[in-house]
Amino acid sequence: MKGNSSKAKKKNNLNISKKTVIISVLAFFVLTGIIVCGYVFAYMYSVVSGDMVIDLNDYKANQSQTSIIYAYDEKGEIYEMQRLHGTENRIYVSLDEIPKHLQDAFIALEDARFPKHHGVDWIRFIAVFIKDQLSTGGSTITQQLVKNLTDERDPTFVRKFKEICYALNLERHFDKDEILEAYLNTLYLGEGCYGVKTACEVYFGKDVSQINLAEAACIASITKAPYTFDPLIDPEENEKRREEKCLAAMLEEGYIDQALYDEAVAHEIIFTNSENYVPDKKTEEEKATGTSEIWSFYTDYIVDCLYDQFINEYDMTERQATQKIYYGGLKVYAAVDPEIQKIVEDVYYNRKTFPNESGKDVKAQSAITIMDYSGRVVAICGEAGEKTRNRGLNRASDSPRQPGSSIKPLSVYAPAVEEGILTWSTLYLDKAFAYQGKQWPKNYTGDKGTGASVTVQNALARSLNTVPARIAYYDLGLKKSYQYLTERFMISTAHPQHDVAPAPLATGAMNVGITTLEMSAAYAVFGNGGVYHKPFCYYKVTNSDGSTVYFDNSVNNGVQAVSGETADIMCELLQTVTTSSVGTGTRYKVKGFPTMAKTGTTSDDFDRWFVGGTPYYVAAVWYGYDLNKTVSNVSGNPSGKLFAEIMNRVHSGLPDKSFPKSSLTTEKKYCTRTGLLAGDKCPSTATGWYSIKNLPKTCTSCKGAPHESSTEKGGILEDITNALGSLGNLIPIG
Ligand SMILES: [Zn+2]
Repeated sequence: MKGNSSKAKKKNNLNISKKTVIISVLAFFVLTGIIVCGYVFAYMYSVVSGDMVIDLNDYKANQSQTSIIYAYDEKGEIYEMQRLHGTENRIYVSLDEIPKHLQDAFIALEDARFPKHHGVDWIRFIAVFIKDQLSTGGSTITQQLVKNLTDERDPTFVRKFKEICYALNLERHFDKDEILEAYLNTLYLGEGCYGVKTACEVYFGKDVSQINLAEAACIASITKAPYTFDPLIDPEENEKRREEKCLAAMLEEGYIDQALYDEAVAHEIIFTNSENYVPDKKTEEEKATGTSEIWSFYTDYIVDCLYDQFINEYDMTERQATQKIYYGGLKVYAAVDPEIQKIVEDVYYNRKTFPNESGKDVKAQSAITIMDYSGRVVAICGEAGEKTRNRGLNRASDSPRQPGSSIKPLSVYAPAVEEGILTWSTLYLDKAFAYQGKQWPKNYTGDKGTGASVTVQNALARSLNTVPARIAYYDLGLKKSYQYLTERFMISTAHPQHDVAPAPLATGAMNVGITTLEMSAAYAVFGNGGVYHKPFCYYKVTNSDGSTVYFDNSVNNGVQAVSGETADIMCELLQTVTTSSVGTGTRYKVKGFPTMAKTGTTSDDFDRWFVGGTPYYVAAVWYGYDLNKTVSNVSGNPSGKLFAEIMNRVHSGLPDKSFPKSSLTTEKKYCTRTGLLAGDKCPSTATGWYSIKNLPKTCTSCKGAPHESSTEKGGILEDITNALGSLGNLIPIG
């Protein structure tokens, strides 16, 4: 008995403790639930009854403001260069310009209880919520408007909850008409259209005020799934929805009667892609007279940069950026030099100095970027021939192409000078070497090198491949070469997996390539003491009254990419491309001005480059075909010709100017036999540029009587040296 009773007691105790645990847990959950609910309701109350969360008036004001680009003329006076959006083609329309049947179509289809609810249709919301928790169904017009204006679309409870609070708040501050107007102006309707006005133009070629009932139902039916119900893509699918859902709902809700319904169903809609579509007169006239405005490439480039900056620096979506740029009343102060841009457009649009390709279906293309030495892009053009659209392909900023030899100064010569690996007159073997089982590389002339030793200057002026390949592979190292290219010269299109290899770095056979924009910015380093400036196309961007400054490039300090001496030496080396008798760019020197330059040609002659600069400007020019095709039927380098044509016109009348020079850069005579500084008994000398921190030793091996020395830079003297065959033990590489 005793034992039994103690057992029972134990059992009882156990039961009690079990109960206690369960009760405690329950209490915990209930309490937590109460606290959470408390917080949720407190948040909801504070948002809903609080200050305006979204200001539709502000939004509307932002929709109709024209953005203007200003530029400075030659006297430095400001003038209006381009309106990005005028009142004529604004997209925002007030409710009284939107036909009643279009408004009704949306209400009947999307939110039948819109006139009655307070922002959230709780009955419909709960019904849909039970069926399919986070679907977009059950959202009122007010909720959809919130979603469109905040651009928050993640399918989370928190987002949905916030949307509900904002919708309730919105309804407290604005009436139904204001909400409907904003909604009809912001919703996405496929084909890149936001708002009913552009949608009516795109689908029917009509103004929104002119559309009939069937067309109204057609537009409203797109909303649910803009791709599926796009009538230009799938007219049947749209027709099904507009008849069975939209018009049926309008009939049911009493917006239309049976007769109107039947008429609308029987109506055959003519779309802009229908066979019997006739564009209206105004559109036709515009096409005929060319009044529909085509921007310059500079404007295209500005708009591209605005997109990049607003999206990256202001965390905007593409849609928000679009609205800001076109309708946000921006003031953009362009960095263009209108005179230079005009010269470039004259040459490019009219294909002046381009090889004659009349009668050919596919014509060669070209791109050019011209900058000054502060990062200011003064002119840009991304197409040859008549410009027919806005923001089409801009080859200058968007089409990286294989740079060929024009990469060598960036990836090989400048890094090697900067690292103290070589000087102007260091001798290298012009000879292919064993790489991956074969002798590599070939020179442009097709040979694998003469086996002679040549100076760095000579190799660069003649654009030999053998020498930079040896420098990059044996001396500099591929990693370092790639680092300079991407981190000092800021080439963003190099590929870390494919391009850390001898062929891309030493001969420019890159995976993707480089744009003329980045190329000109990189070469600018050589003409301004080694400082890299990020290219910019506007000084400043503000809102309409100037009270907010979005972007400011007026102080563009730049970073020291290489030392002043390295830049000077590179600049002098590159000048021998246009001055030395063996240089590849002698025909394209700018008249009256020192001209640094480098040519570039890729394998099979797909791409031709010319990058060059005077003390005023630096320009990069690419020439080739969009789809790789051999450049044929041309004499010389077509890019060099374009460079010379444009730069000679640009420089006509400019005062003399020389490149800057560091006090640590010095001109010295060197021995053409040894590449060392000239000694008393060196029979043949030339001059080159050196850093006083990295001077070669003085030559002591020449025993001959001192000959008459020459001051000519590069070229012929090395050729004589080569002919004499002074080879062998002087080669500094392994
Ligand atoms: Zn000597």
